[in-house]
Amino acid sequence: YVKHHKQKIVLIFSAMRHFAEELRAKGWQVDYVMLDDPENTGSFTGEVARAVERHAPSAIRVTESGEWRVSQAMEEWEGRFPCPVSILPDTRFIATHAEFRAFAEGRKHLTMEYFYREMRRKTGLLMRPDGRPEGGEWNYDAENREPPKAGLKAPPAPKFAPDAITQEVIALVGQRFPDHFGDLEPFGWPVTRAEALEAAEAFFARRLEKFGPYQDAMVHGEDDLYHSMLSTSLNCGLLDPLELCRAAEDAYKKGTAPLNSVEGFIRQIIGWREYVRGFYWHQMPGLAAANELGAHRPLPEFFWTGETDMRCLADCIRTTREDAHAHHIQRLMVLGNFCLIAGIDPQAVADWYLVVYADAYEWVELPNVAGMILYADGGRLATKPYAASGNYINKMSDYCGKCRYKVSQKTGPDACPFNPLYWHFMDANRARLESNHRIGRIYATWDRMGEAKQREYLKSAETFLATLEPAREGWARDA
Ligand code: FAD
Ligand code: SF4
Repeated sequence: YVKHHKQKIVLIFSAMRHFAEELRAKGWQVDYVMLDDPENTGSFTGEVARAVERHAPSAIRVTESGEWRVSQAMEEWEGRFPCPVSILPDTRFIATHAEFRAFAEGRKHLTMEYFYREMRRKTGLLMRPDGRPEGGEWNYDAENREPPKAGLKAPPAPKFAPDAITQEVIALVGQRFPDHFGDLEPFGWPVTRAEALEAAEAFFARRLEKFGPYQDAMVHGEDDLYHSMLSTSLNCGLLDPLELCRAAEDAYKKGTAPLNSVEGFIRQIIGWREYVRGFYWHQMPGLAAANELGAHRPLPEFFWTGETDMRCLADCIRTTREDAHAHHIQRLMVLGNFCLIAGIDPQAVADWYLVVYADAYEWVELPNVAGMILYADGGRLATKPYAASGNYINKMSDYCGKCRYKVSQKTGPDACPFNPLYWHFMDANRARLESNHRIGRIYATWDRMGEAKQREYLKSAETFLATLEPAREGWARDA
């Protein structure tokens, strides 16, 4: 129902087909309907209905879905099919829905840090026997913000050559979804459990050590840096979150990775990943329509084509097109920050993120978009909008040096667009943000500038915004 990146479709179909083969090899009887089966109804409920006709089952057992839309459809099965339907909890997550509800009860801001501490206690990860966190602190984020050194280069993540099954799926996707965003090949994502384990081992052996310090760094053309590249495997069930966290903890115990890297990695998984999932189910269906800041500008066409002179955005969109991946800080502080301060419509942004990433599923994409980057949920997830001028990108990357825009210039045609857009955003949302203690003080700086300077910023921002060509229909969904 959105036009996913071609590599995401290959990943999912290939992983399913490999899994079906593995089950058959273990002696299970598997009824797998191919995408190009002429009888395929093209809908989940439609295919379950046909399976019910074929097998006349005494019961249907299914794992709960990862998407509100699908869960609504599944709720109707009990009344529709002539047998009992059990919808079982997804055991690939650490927190239950009830645990998240209990955490959220009575809180205005659902601060991730407190939820994370509960997950640390629940799993025992990096916990001392006396109930204190390993190293004395819960969170070593402050040690995880090193800017990239010149020439920073990480050992590459392994890529997996497509086998016969994957090649068949690549051909199918090329033929069936030629107009979808993204490069179909080269395709190198893990599609089996064995490949995913190999990718995880390579990360623990070669990149975990520096994962922490360079978590927020960005280097032109260095797409993965020290990130794990494991989200695609985690989200489609090839890897288990707890097994990864235990492996990271072992690396710390053996002394092969420092605490700030290991804690940082574990926090991303039992903290952020579990938290956004709980948040999604807690906030749906309203989250999908949330637009607290009243942002209505269409997504620019360059998000699909990559044709922009802004070097940071062009690089993040290139890696997105080539690999169906961009790392967290690119998604948050370049792409997301731009969408926030340019006032792009949250639903258009959510569609883009859901389309372009191989790890995208609504339960994880939407809280990150509506909550973390756009503040569209009114601050339930993030205590302040992550708005930043070009300074932040310049500090954390090597993008600006060769950019056509000048990061040091604040206004005018050569100024980095992030600079005037930042103040344009702050000015436009003053009524909502001024009372926020984490960001409100910035208005004193704005007021000190005086009217003439303020007008210059606003005019520069508006001149830039007027140049943005809206995305043509049909990129994200069939027109
Ligand atoms: P690493 O940097 O190695 O992190 C390790 C793991 O931590 C990831 O594999 C992931 O499972 C988890 N993680 C880290 N941050 C987050 C987070 N904010 N939310 C949830 N899990 C997190 N992640 C997705 O899996 N699917 C998405 O659709 C998705 N959409 C995003 C949209 C936006 C706007 C932003 C800001 C972030 C989004 N993320 C999403 C989170 C994060 O960017 C990716 O999980 C990460 O880039 C995947 O690469 P990695 O496996 O190398 O991650
Ligand atoms: Fe991006 Fe501005 Fe730096 Fe150019 S100068 S790379 S637009 S932050």
